[in-house]
Amino acid sequence: MAGTGKIGAHRAPMLSVVVPCYNERAGVAELHRRVSAVCLEQSLPYEIVLVIDGATDGTREAIFDLAEKDDHVVAIDLARNYGHQIALSAGLEFCRGQRILILDADLQDPPELLGAMMAKMDEGFDVVYGQRVKREGESWFKLASASMFYRLLGRMVDVEIAPDSGDFRLMSRRALDHLIAMPERYRFIRGMVSWIGLRQVAFPYERHRRFAGTTHYPLKKMVLLAIDAMTSFSIVPLRFASLLGMMFGLLGLVVLSYTLFEWSRGNVLPGWTSLAAIMLILGSVQLLVLGIFGEYLGRMYMETKRRPLYFVNGIVSRSEPAQGLPAHRLQEMAKRAARA
Ligand code: UDP
Ligand code: MG
Repeated sequence: MAGTGKIGAHRAPMLSVVVPCYNERAGVAELHRRVSAVCLEQSLPYEIVLVIDGATDGTREAIFDLAEKDDHVVAIDLARNYGHQIALSAGLEFCRGQRILILDADLQDPPELLGAMMAKMDEGFDVVYGQRVKREGESWFKLASASMFYRLLGRMVDVEIAPDSGDFRLMSRRALDHLIAMPERYRFIRGMVSWIGLRQVAFPYERHRRFAGTTHYPLKKMVLLAIDAMTSFSIVPLRFASLLGMMFGLLGLVVLSYTLFEWSRGNVLPGWTSLAAIMLILGSVQLLVLGIFGEYLGRMYMETKRRPLYFVNGIVSRSEPAQGLPAHRLQEMAKRAARA
């Protein structure tokens, strides 16, 4: 069955559910209950990888507690808050499944869809990604800005990134191994998965409101994620400079002919208003373009440091999560542990 995305008969088939958790104390018990229920229905061995992303509200203790009671739970405690995409990357690196479900801790994406997504994957897909057809309990602003963002991104990027899809998806081990092999620091995971290729299919579903707590994606983080997405998949913004240069060049020619014409008629006016306006516009355009250059330069600088994406404070699990990990992952983990 190799290559069809089906669970290979030669390896112990296992299902991993990977969940990055920030401050989600009010929701983790319910998360564990609902995810366990859907995993049991599949009658496959499974693990629930809960990544604690530097939580400060008791989420850590709650998750450790679960890991001590239930040997399906693997708790990975990161050294600090690294952000959603890095926390998710950590969970994905540690999970052992042949099929991997990515889920948010707030249960906005119903885990009960797992069965249907598994069936879809059985048809031979490597990635079954959730596509939101309806979103409950989210502000019009979030919906409008998300929609605008995906349209804009779609125009700038060669890779097709499905609009209205988040990170909620089921992946095959082969797709995940490709994703793990991508070392970049600025991670827009849904885009990276699209970029891989293989056979991917959309899975329409309704997104619910948060089970508990409030969003950890305020406007600032949303904008940062959007910038990550744009800059990691496109160099189109760098071309703004030439584009704006051409635009203003043409405008300059028009204004020049006008001024020469007026000069030939002897109508030379003081004209400081127009001069000031031109200087302001040109100045701000130059700064804007410089800023875009800086954005890319800064990212190149950060990437060249080649720091590990994250450090792990500890792992709590009754099932020895290291078992079954590929050798290179074990070596890496040992190195990290030695450094920590
Ligand atoms: N999250 C995380 N680290 C962060 C922020 C968020 O691990 O710094 C997790 C969070 O616990 C949740 C997921 O990422 O499981 C998505 O976050 P959230 O639900 O707040 O985002 P939204 O659904 O509002 O976009
Ligand atoms: Mg959410």
